[in-house]
Amino acid sequence: MYTIGVDLGATYIKMGIVDTRARVYSRRKIETPKSAKKALLIDAIIYNIKDIIKASGKKIHRVGIGVPGPVDSQKGIVHYFPNIKGWKEVPLKAILQKRLGMAVELDNDVNAMTLGEFTFGAGRGSDNLVCITLGTGVGGGIIIGKRLYRGGSMTAGEIGHIPINEFGPKCNCAGYACLERYVGNKYILERAKNVFGAGITLERLSALARSRDKKAIAIWTDVAEKLSVALIGVVNLLNPDKIVIGGGVSGAGSLILTPLAKQIKSRAMKDQARHVKIVLAALGPDAGIIGSSLLGVAERSSAKTTVK
Ligand SMILES: [Zn+2]
Repeated sequence: MYTIGVDLGATYIKMGIVDTRARVYSRRKIETPKSAKKALLIDAIIYNIKDIIKASGKKIHRVGIGVPGPVDSQKGIVHYFPNIKGWKEVPLKAILQKRLGMAVELDNDVNAMTLGEFTFGAGRGSDNLVCITLGTGVGGGIIIGKRLYRGGSMTAGEIGHIPINEFGPKCNCAGYACLERYVGNKYILERAKNVFGAGITLERLSALARSRDKKAIAIWTDVAEKLSVALIGVVNLLNPDKIVIGGGVSGAGSLILTPLAKQIKSRAMKDQARHVKIVLAALGPDAGIIGSSLLGVAERSSAKTTVK
């Protein structure tokens, strides 16, 4: 059985045909149309889905789409996209179902990635996990008892907007001292530029740290320590089996993971600290496509296994 997974991002739309063992076929990556007109973006998604299906000759049963912003996944409505203009309360699921003539599942991209890592990636084998994505934004997805936890109005998981100080810099969510305000990649880059000059990139900062540059190591260690402040709270509150770290900045790998795990192990409450494993996401650039293909399906099958 084949599904199409679509990972709609502010920069790229990625999609592919995914089988039941998470193998991805006919990958496609196109630039997200920069036009403010949402009709153009919807047309691009539909054109590419139809084109992939036609070219593959495979029988496709459904489409799952992960999108970069808050949604009501039950009603299939996009509330808005922080980084794509012109979207407000758009019934995207209904629009796609009508024009594609097949079932469509919709959720936000971090929930999709969380489902992917939970089912086929670094979260396999755990019943309770928290996924955190580090990039321009800092997002989170929560699995409790093998199911996505969505919260009262379907917007749970905003780890990036946990305040880590009583006072601090203002955040674009209207709060201040939010985790994202310290470890979002533009803020890491700002700090790196102050030390290494305007030409530095995050990849270069990682390379410098790996070649034992003390100033570069200090920046990544500080990122890990800021992260740990929020995640120690998460570990104590939810007692997860695993914390899965994904997203662009997670490319820094052990530079973040080692000091982060050390902080959590030493500062979280004893039982929670001993139990939790801190791991890097495993699905790489396909995480969004695989995760989106599981929307609806993974939740239904996991619900079946939890009801005994
Ligand atoms: Zn915030």
